Amino acid sequence: MRALFASAVFAIAVFAIALFAIAPAGSALAAPKPVIVAKPIPFGEARRSETAAYARRHYGLHTWRLTTPHVIVEHTTGTTSFSSAWSTFASDAPDAELGERPGTCAHFVIDRDGTIYQLVPLSTICRHTVGLNWTAIGIEHVGTSEASVLGNPRQLQASLQLTLWLMGRYGISLPNVIGHAESLTSRYHRERYARWRCQTHGDWQHARMVTYRAALARLARARRLELSRAGGPVASRC
Ligand SMILES: [Zn+2]
Repeated sequence: MRALFASAVFAIAVFAIALFAIAPAGSALAAPKPVIVAKPIPFGEARRSETAAYARRHYGLHTWRLTTPHVIVEHTTGTTSFSSAWSTFASDAPDAELGERPGTCAHFVIDRDGTIYQLVPLSTICRHTVGLNWTAIGIEHVGTSEASVLGNPRQLQASLQLTLWLMGRYGISLPNVIGHAESLTSRYHRERYARWRCQTHGDWQHARMVTYRAALARLARARRLELSRAGGPVASRC
């Protein structure tokens, strides 16, 4: 009886050790997928061709497909409604600033109430950040400032959950979650068109992203997930 008990304990211990060895000690892969509402913008053959031509002009790639993204770029719309952002991205009009097609877009837009909308498949290049579109997922936040996003718990929580899930899905490290205003110091920045090489925007400055990334790291800790800190920024050549 005693021997039987001892061997049963031994078997359970071996099984537990085997399980521990198989399961990752803590991985962003375990981050749950948040609720995402599909609101696709039209992205048919014409827009795909425009995107492939854009990728060739600016990155030397002839494809509209986004494969193995390395970067997540956080944005703010500068407006107060989801519908106006959706309409702008759906229009495929040449952008007012640089005058090129395809029109600008983002993979996700997070509304003020915390609803996450997906506009473009993650397998498609979306034009949101000069120099990084070839490898970056774009997340827009409805709002007129980063402070308005950081001060809105529902919107911020949705953003952190979405970003954490994407990081796990694609193995994206914490330093590669950047604000649009940090684009020029990304190690993945590349731009063949000389006049655009130093172009960026003012949304999500470094100081705001320090706050955002700290909140992301806190959420990961609370969920016992390990985040990679590999691949920090590089010096800007601008
Ligand atoms: Zn932006």
